[in-house]
Amino acid sequence: MRSLQMPGQSTVVCIDTPAPAPGPGEVLIQTQVSALCGSELKPYHGAGMQMGNTGHESAGIVAQLGPDVTQLKEGQRVGVSAVAGCGACTYCAKGQYTYCPDLVTHNSMHAEYFITKANACHLLPDELSWEVGLLISGDGFGVPYHTSTKLKNEPIESVAIFGMGPIGLGNALLHSHLGRQVIAVDVVAKRLEFAGELGAAHVLQASKDLDPVAAIRELTAGRGADVCIEAAGRPESAKQCFAAVRTAGTVAFNGEQPAIELSPSADFIRRDITALGSWYYHFGQFPAMLELYRGGLAVDRLITHRFPFAEAPEAFRMMAAGQTGKVLLEY
Ligand SMILES: [Zn+2]
Ligand SMILES: [Zn+2]
Repeated sequence: MRSLQMPGQSTVVCIDTPAPAPGPGEVLIQTQVSALCGSELKPYHGAGMQMGNTGHESAGIVAQLGPDVTQLKEGQRVGVSAVAGCGACTYCAKGQYTYCPDLVTHNSMHAEYFITKANACHLLPDELSWEVGLLISGDGFGVPYHTSTKLKNEPIESVAIFGMGPIGLGNALLHSHLGRQVIAVDVVAKRLEFAGELGAAHVLQASKDLDPVAAIRELTAGRGADVCIEAAGRPESAKQCFAAVRTAGTVAFNGEQPAIELSPSADFIRRDITALGSWYYHFGQFPAMLELYRGGLAVDRLITHRFPFAEAPEAFRMMAAGQTGKVLLEY
């Protein structure tokens, strides 16, 4: 089969390699579509990967069952969660795989076939496209949705989102759909253009001439945004989230990043600020996301580029240049 190899130093190459065989509890998936995630850029630009690749968003067809798998059949269409739980603990019973002490994560999904756990597969209804199946099974929509379920400081009328990579755009689409005033912040004009197309009410191109914190306060009658979401993975924008959120507002972290200095008194206590982290989504949230899609939330609008698998090197170059929303590889 063809698979993506990641030597690092901003290169990827398609290679021939034997298809893997599923072990107990596992299935082999024949990939129909895989997507690029912003988190892949660090290994892409840096040291790469010794084995396999960083692909962790995919949808495809069950091609082969592991020895003891009974809950799936060959030929079924599935969207794949990159996180799988042990299946036996109380968290797994509630579909909260990300809380499972024995969770496993899968990658190497930029390939014609890959292995995953059977309990990481969502059955896709026949009428659902591969693209939508992928988006509501993975980071693309899963992260924004999971984050939205943790925001409790009602009423939420304004949401400022820092970083308009794929996750930031997913947040912009979701909160616009929920009727909130979305303020999108980035340094790249192209990404802000995508945010506007997805419903952002205001786009702010941060620069030495435009302080996003001052601009957000101006757009919210001086109060600050009800919610600030950090999706850039940058310490500067993390600090700006605290400066731009209203009193009693919420700061949500989506972007992985290094340690930053915060003041319990100034950043939290005296302004009654809640800050939260949100990682991936809960396996059990799939039906709610499907319902949102069926109710008119066109998650596939997040996709700006589609490439045949053989053109993966170009797909990575485009995403790394900040010129894309969600990028798909088709098989
Ligand atoms: Zn990801
Ligand atoms: Zn578990």
